[in-house]
Amino acid sequence: MRDKPLLTIIVPCYNEEEVLKETMSQLGLILRDMKNKMVIHEDSDLLFVDDGSRDKTWDIIANAMAMEDYTNGVKLSRNFGHQNALLAGMQAVEGRSDCIISIDSDLQDDVGVIPEFVEKYRAGYEVVYGIRDERKTDTRFKRGSAHLFYSMMGKFGIHLIPDHADYRLLGSMALQEMNLFPENNIFLRGIVPLIGFKSEKVYYHRKERFAGESKYPLKKMLAFAADGLTSFSVAPIRLVTGLGALMFVIAIVIGIFTFIQHLSGTATTGWSSLMLSIWIIGGVQMMSLGVVGEYIGRIYSEVKQRPRFIVEQSSYVQK
Ligand code: UDP
Ligand code: MG
Repeated sequence: MRDKPLLTIIVPCYNEEEVLKETMSQLGLILRDMKNKMVIHEDSDLLFVDDGSRDKTWDIIANAMAMEDYTNGVKLSRNFGHQNALLAGMQAVEGRSDCIISIDSDLQDDVGVIPEFVEKYRAGYEVVYGIRDERKTDTRFKRGSAHLFYSMMGKFGIHLIPDHADYRLLGSMALQEMNLFPENNIFLRGIVPLIGFKSEKVYYHRKERFAGESKYPLKKMLAFAADGLTSFSVAPIRLVTGLGALMFVIAIVIGIFTFIQHLSGTATTGWSSLMLSIWIIGGVQMMSLGVVGEYIGRIYSEVKQRPRFIVEQSSYVQK
């Protein structure tokens, strides 16, 4: 390893024209400051990954690349989603950087703790998690749904680092291992703890978005949660199997009950219990099919082995 680590700060951007310039100047300031203090290598850089934005995001990145040689850009051919944009960035610098820090472009995560991340890395930690120590600035709905998400995931046996999003440092060893996870429906938060290595946490206050609006509407959030759940655990499938078995037992009990009624000569009253059990069984079967189908869908999308992202342009290739 070099005596001063070569750091790349990776920033995924999707329609972020409103905040990007401010993000660039704040990150640039911190990068230059760390270089001046001889904490990081001279060639350390910022990498902006344009995730198929439809606004001026790429123009802003291209402009910055022309102005500052510590700015790099990777442009994806369309919108591949936050996680894939991050992966694209991480793969672009694999073998080049000693460590990377991933951070959102909206300045919600406090850029001021970046030197702390680097300090921990220099102290020998291969993975450093950024943890927000409060969620006051999120809407009540977002806070509630996030906590529900963690406790649900925990019950299904997926142990995430609470209140850690995608603000983290990875050393080159961790990065290399990370890029070996080939799955299509990737959920980085779940995978990083699986890689192992010595890890540390850095706490910070999460702020409001500097400008623009969340690129994670409810629909994307639900899809994200479903991805996290089904790509890590087969517990839901077992749950449904158990539920199905329970309903089957109930149906048998109802059946015996009706049969006794039949023997005692009051059979016509059995109509309601019969109808009830038909609906219960039908419902459980539909539900089971749905869950099984969800997994089959995932297997289908994994076996196709499609690329997770497509790079249209990259400043690393030209340099
Ligand atoms: N993002 C992306 N692709 C997407 C959606 C989001 O690259 O399809 C980026 C976005 O530009 C931002 C980060 O991912 O840098 C987090 O998104 P956002 O701030 O909208 O999410 P929130 O903080 O509301 O969860
Ligand atoms: Mg945000």
